Amino acid sequence: MSYRTDEVAYVQPAAAASGQTSQARSTAQYRALDAAHHIHPFSDMGTLNRAGSRVITKAKGVYLWDSDGNKIIDGMAGLWCVNVGYGRKELADAAYQQLQELPFYNTFFKTTHPPVIELSALLAEVTPAAFNHFFYCNSGSEGNDTVLRIAHRFWGAQGKSSKKYVISRKNGYHGSTIAGGTLGGMGYMHEQMPSKVEHIVHIDQPYFFGEAEGNLTPEEFALARAQQLEAKILELGAENVAAFIGEPFQGAGGVIFPASTYWPEIQRICRKYDILLVADEVIGGFGRTGEWFAHQHFGFEPDLMTLAKGLTSGYVPMGAVALHDRVAKVIIENGEFNHGLTYSGHPVAAAVAVANLKLLRDEKIVERVKTDTGPYFQNLLRETFSNHPIIGEIAGAGLVAGLQLAEDPKARKRFANGGDVGTICRDYCFNGNLIMRATGDRMLLSPPLVITRGEIDEIVSKAKKAIDATAQKLGLS
Ligand SMILES: *Cc1c(COP(=O)(O)O)cnc(C)c1O
Repeated sequence: MSYRTDEVAYVQPAAAASGQTSQARSTAQYRALDAAHHIHPFSDMGTLNRAGSRVITKAKGVYLWDSDGNKIIDGMAGLWCVNVGYGRKELADAAYQQLQELPFYNTFFKTTHPPVIELSALLAEVTPAAFNHFFYCNSGSEGNDTVLRIAHRFWGAQGKSSKKYVISRKNGYHGSTIAGGTLGGMGYMHEQMPSKVEHIVHIDQPYFFGEAEGNLTPEEFALARAQQLEAKILELGAENVAAFIGEPFQGAGGVIFPASTYWPEIQRICRKYDILLVADEVIGGFGRTGEWFAHQHFGFEPDLMTLAKGLTSGYVPMGAVALHDRVAKVIIENGEFNHGLTYSGHPVAAAVAVANLKLLRDEKIVERVKTDTGPYFQNLLRETFSNHPIIGEIAGAGLVAGLQLAEDPKARKRFANGGDVGTICRDYCFNGNLIMRATGDRMLLSPPLVITRGEIDEIVSKAKKAIDATAQKLGLS
């Protein structure tokens, strides 16, 4: 459900006059050309082309402008990635200077360059102490492909090449390459993938509101879901299992935060059976929860981390895998690792990433999320929606949140046609010039980390209007 077309289906509101720079074409011309030649990701192009895409032409801070001059507040930081907000000159300057100095050189054949060296040293500084080595790619999907390659190499180099299986979770999201899509647990993607990567299996997700039965507490339920990992390892044989991968909190799957019992149990099981623990930090990384990395929020220590999105705040594409010292040692000391991408460690992307990490560090943006804007946002959401007639759960920490729409919140009863309700609500948001995403019947927020209290007020009041309108339309207000 999460990335589908209806997400951008759009009814044109009256154009606002302000904020518009000159542009080459009219909105109608842009739409016609877009419909004629552009196939969008995760979209039903027939429906989208008939409705017309919203054309985003510029952005500043936490605001976007469309081609009709409407000013829109971006509650999703683009696609969970624009952590430092739009329009930071430091990042633009870093790219421009690097493009002039050395626009490209590879890192394959005994060569390296200053930007990738600076970035690696800086990542070693901002990641937990045991992470000191980084492998680069261009996206989160490629990061997870790389995770598979590293995990298999790690065991193969130690004479344990039977350890092939990677265990992942239903409704997890790990990207859309063949490996990323197979690792993810999105049924609607698997349906269109007759060929998947071998040796990948899934266990259930720790989604309390939607899937807990009986009188289990959230803690008991999360523990039971974590213990499915142990059962799956025993079924496959630990000698056949390479790794477990999970997002510390599920992002695209609906901002699902597991109870505090979940990750310690997952970690215990991985250690007991000698299985690599991989945290996909593509959304959680670089400050989202108020910690630099989301696994720190949940209190566990992964062996590998997948990084992308907030690594460059989305200004240019870049992904990476962070290797714990105990994994790096094996990869480094056992001869050639036969994996690489032309743009691994691309100098322009690396220069932008360095500028981005320096902003996050030197402007204490992550600390501000932890001590100020994060708690403010979470409290305001709870004050606003705790007793709302169609909100069943408010999940999140720092500057990420998932609001569960529910027919009967107290009875944990979801809407029978869950996704439709999310779409209704999402359309109200869109028409109110708030970008808020719907995954099925969960409404998601993940604004730029530089957002102010005043801008948080604006997002939450616009979200309330949209959710109130949804309740009213359903006759549940
Ligand atoms: C977005 C995302 C990915 C995929 O990243 P791309 O850059 O789109 O390939 C992987 N994992 C998680 C958790 C993500 O949110």
